[in-house]
Amino acid sequence: MGKPRIVVLGAGYGGIMTAVKLEKMLSEHDATLTLVNKNDYHYQTTWLHENAAGTLHHDRTRIPVKEVINLQKTEFILDTVVSIKPDEKKVKLADSELQYDILVIGLGFETAVCGVTGLEEHAFTIGSINNARLIKEHLQYNFAKYQHEEEQKPERLNIVVGGGGFTGIEFLGELANRIPELCEEYDINKTMIRIVNIEKTPTILPGFDQQLAEYAMSSLESRGVEFITEATLKECKSDRVVYEKDGKLVEIPTYTTVWAAGVRANSLIEKAGLDHSQGKVKVRQDMRAPDYDDVFVIGDCAMIEDKNGKPYPPTAQIAVQESETVARNVKALIDGSEFQSFKPHLLGTVASLGQTDAIGNVLNNRQLVGWKAVLLKKIIDNRYLFKLGGFNLLMRKGKFNIFH
Ligand SMILES: Cc1cc2nc3c(=O)[nH]c(=O)nc-3n(C[C@H](O)[C@H](O)[C@H](O)COP(=O)(O)OP(=O)(O)OC[C@H]3O[C@@H](n4cnc5c(N)ncnc54)[C@H](O)[C@@H]3O)c2cc1C
Repeated sequence: MGKPRIVVLGAGYGGIMTAVKLEKMLSEHDATLTLVNKNDYHYQTTWLHENAAGTLHHDRTRIPVKEVINLQKTEFILDTVVSIKPDEKKVKLADSELQYDILVIGLGFETAVCGVTGLEEHAFTIGSINNARLIKEHLQYNFAKYQHEEEQKPERLNIVVGGGGFTGIEFLGELANRIPELCEEYDINKTMIRIVNIEKTPTILPGFDQQLAEYAMSSLESRGVEFITEATLKECKSDRVVYEKDGKLVEIPTYTTVWAAGVRANSLIEKAGLDHSQGKVKVRQDMRAPDYDDVFVIGDCAMIEDKNGKPYPPTAQIAVQESETVARNVKALIDGSEFQSFKPHLLGTVASLGQTDAIGNVLNNRQLVGWKAVLLKKIIDNRYLFKLGGFNLLMRKGKFNIFH
């Protein structure tokens, strides 16, 4: 191989960290490095629920790519990937086409509507800065409009969140903080607000111990969140949702449904003809796609199993750790050194329940709740910023106040 062209698709956790690592591992004599992303910024998906609720400005969450990437070493292309053709070693972008020798796919996740009628048309999702900003503005608009209309409509003040998993619960936690502020700002009595979570299973937060899930539920209930479990969202309309519980259909009038229950890998994976399972590429231990030695897949687009055959969960933590293996193995492909297998160092999981409460399952199955979990979450977030952009980025974007 001459001087190979490495192309990284997506500047999310997996993609941008791979690029940052490759910049350090390779010199410009070894390879050319290109990063493609549809925005000129990287965003921390794990903070989007705060932007959506309005408790954190979205400029704290996004980081211009050029602040993290060395543009002398990496060519950054602001464009949207339209298709991937692994047999031809080509990637089609909206405005051009790229030829690669080594490809890293880190295009993240998409919303899955899971067969619920009207969801695509009428529900909001928390998957990008644009989505999050829209939810924030929509909430404010409805609070303002409620006071402005002669005939006041309760559906403007009812908020329904579909799904009691990680994203849904973290968003509800932020809402529980934000709603009292909105009520004050728009002169609305707090008792008029209804925040409802609809969850299919008997409990929320699968993956967390039952005790922690119960803690989360009572923390949120004490701040006005209503849980409807063992209920299935059936239909979403512009002014109401319909769910089924105990064989009966029930309606909630609302202009605000936020769907936080279903995600799938970027559909470009399936369209690329890469061997996949439920839309994700079941990568080899070195993070390469099964039939292509020159294609690495990372983050939510990849599926990799632990030694018991259980897939690692699609998390930012895993995506970042995979970037280490991917960068090393891209280098191995170039210089002939030995390939490494992915070995995660799982540090545990923390779910926030608003600005001042959280739950965590950490090393050796230790459980944390309250301010300790809040602190740990901020340490995890700050550690990532430090890894990505060093002390400077940490000081500019980090979270240092544990009480807010
Ligand atoms: C609200 C929320 C809270 C979460 N909280 C946590 C948490 O606390 N801890 C945790 O570990 N995980 C959490 N997750 C999961 C975590 O965010 C994902 O697992 C992680 O973002 C996956 O990283 P990735 O690199 O695969 O993709 P992403 O980080 O999603 O990045 C994909 C990138 O590709 C770009 N892109 C997509 N399509 C195209 C295209 N066609 N062309 C060009 N560019 C494109 C996107 O703009 C984006 O920059 C949370 C997720 C959400 C939604």
